[in-house]
Amino acid sequence: MFWIGCHLSAAKGYLAMGKEAVNLGANTFQFFTRNPRGGSVKPLDLDDMAAYRDFAAKHNIGTIVAHAPYTLNACAADENLQRFALHVMREDLERLSFLPDVVYNFHPGSHVKQGEAVGIQKIADLLNQVLQPDTKTPVLLETMAGKGTEIGREFAQLRAILDKVELSDKMGVCMDTCHVFDAGYDIVSHLEEVLQEFDTVIGLERLKAIHLNDSKNALGSHKDRHACLDAGEIGIEALSQIINHPKLCHLPFVLETPNDAAGYAKEIAWLKELRKVE
Ligand code: FE
Ligand code: FE
Ligand code: ZN
Repeated sequence: MFWIGCHLSAAKGYLAMGKEAVNLGANTFQFFTRNPRGGSVKPLDLDDMAAYRDFAAKHNIGTIVAHAPYTLNACAADENLQRFALHVMREDLERLSFLPDVVYNFHPGSHVKQGEAVGIQKIADLLNQVLQPDTKTPVLLETMAGKGTEIGREFAQLRAILDKVELSDKMGVCMDTCHVFDAGYDIVSHLEEVLQEFDTVIGLERLKAIHLNDSKNALGSHKDRHACLDAGEIGIEALSQIINHPKLCHLPFVLETPNDAAGYAKEIAWLKELRKVE
């Protein structure tokens, strides 16, 4: 099954997102759990969640991706920001527990001059406070471009976090094609080697979702500017290899390309044409 979708606005709720996804030709989608640049959250609507569950089952919508707000920095230097991160992650996971087939993705964080080691330790400490034996929703670390002091530009940094998390069987990774390319992993000319390295350092079984984006900037630029399919430095050829790769093809692919609804529908249709495997 080709699980393909795009990022959607959560403003109208889950059922509305499910319907929009189907309209765009998608069978998965991503959304922000709350205002991405703030932190405010809508009241929990269990009826909407139940209606979405029925709709998703009927329309064969697969695993969806909940994205934490950008304001969540799990390794903030400021104590209030640290407390905010703990609160947001706990509350998001509590709310997501009412949904089936959802993963929770977050940007590991920016160490803001505290240094990489301190950052990694703080991220792991936060996850150890949040994760409980009954936590149901897998929590994914997103691979990052390495803008500023971002942690997650190297697979080894994600490995270091995972090693420090006690309930690490609850953890996975989401690979963003724009981010890994900007981080310096050459998925255009050396996809096999990059996946090999991912497998050696992290383990491919940890990979739970892919953000499918082209990049406006060159390999290793550390910029993080997403481009539409084939409108960037990665190109459609390489992205097509990724959606068809035997080790990746079962994963949910989510577009985060700079598009409106019509643009997303077009890209989804194009990817379906490029998809060679069942
Ligand atoms: Fe992200
Ligand atoms: Fe992403
Ligand atoms: Zn990005």
